[in-house]
Amino acid sequence: MLFSSLGLSPSLLKALANQNYTQPYPIQEQAIPAILNRQDVLGIAQTGSGKTASYVLPILMNLQGKITSKNRHVNVLVLVPTRELAMQVEEVFKTFGLGLPTSVKTLAVYGGVSINPQMMALQGVNVLVATPGRLLELVESNSVHLTTIDTLVLDEADKMLNLGFKEEVDHILALLPKRRQNLLFSATLSDDVNNINQIILHKPLIIKIEAEENNIDLITQTAYNVSEEKKGPLLRYIIKEKDLKQVLVFASSTYKADNIADKLRKNGIDAMAMHGKKSQQARTDALNKFKAGTLRVLVATDLISRGIDIKYLPCVINYELPRSPKDYIHRIGRTGRAESAGQAISFITPEDQHHFRVIQKKMGKWVTMIDAEGIKF
Ligand code: AMP
Repeated sequence: MLFSSLGLSPSLLKALANQNYTQPYPIQEQAIPAILNRQDVLGIAQTGSGKTASYVLPILMNLQGKITSKNRHVNVLVLVPTRELAMQVEEVFKTFGLGLPTSVKTLAVYGGVSINPQMMALQGVNVLVATPGRLLELVESNSVHLTTIDTLVLDEADKMLNLGFKEEVDHILALLPKRRQNLLFSATLSDDVNNINQIILHKPLIIKIEAEENNIDLITQTAYNVSEEKKGPLLRYIIKEKDLKQVLVFASSTYKADNIADKLRKNGIDAMAMHGKKSQQARTDALNKFKAGTLRVLVATDLISRGIDIKYLPCVINYELPRSPKDYIHRIGRTGRAESAGQAISFITPEDQHHFRVIQKKMGKWVTMIDAEGIKF
């Protein structure tokens, strides 16, 4: 199936090609035509399924020529549980909205930061991506009006309810016009999510995408006990010793990612960092080189790594452990595929010992530990 058969406009097809999206993911095949037809959708899908583009693309297309001219009256509201997701969704709208005949202004608003810049930035916004609490504050201060919303998206609805946003969501729903399109995405269909579905969805198209199973058993996992200072030399040693040609290294912060990539380059190993502070162009360039096999090491933070759409990677190195066991499995899961087993290597400092035990327990698998002290590098 091709994107061109889903009813999208030539400018959106061009934007898709620019992003190297060659084929629609299953959720996109189903959701895009339905949303273009203004049908309600219930998408049971996880992050990674391509759910964001499945609603962003048809929403952008439906907005063409139909944008409200009333200032501070938005057309589309996307409710999300977290700041991170708000920023990611905003970016997808901006990426695909570039170069459309009718320009669409998107803004993400979330709590935990000063409200004033958001109040000002709401001028002329068409698509608002918001966490529920901050949205209500902005509505109460008359910075934005919800009476012209004609499409509502609830993204990661299960997480939103788990985080205790039910009351805020109910309050927001009461402020919206009755006639509107509703799109609801959730990884699971809990009772709470089901209650909301029943209230807001009208004859929805139901799309269920099974989560891809990570085959942990196929992955060779190794962990090195190493001090913080020795991590750099150990990384270089492993890359050279094992003659690794395509390695994804995970770092905990933007600063760390830059630092690791710098040190590798200084030691003659081709590496680039990819994180939220790099421009979209720089990220795309790094990723393209990495995919093409002309960049040996890509150093990334977790948030950005979600966007790394490479089906199979031979080696992943956790220079630093992720906070949650789920993220650990997500990171290493990129290397385990039916026909080709990959390897996952983790660096464990004395402070990480306890956390790494928790990760292994959650994963239900114990990892071979090697003492870096015993290695000469
Ligand atoms: P999501 O589930 O929306 O978080 O998307 C997961 C990742 O897949 C994102 O990094 C997208 O950029 C990427 N992606 C989504 N749809 C496609 C596609 N059709 N082709 C290639 N990459 C895609």
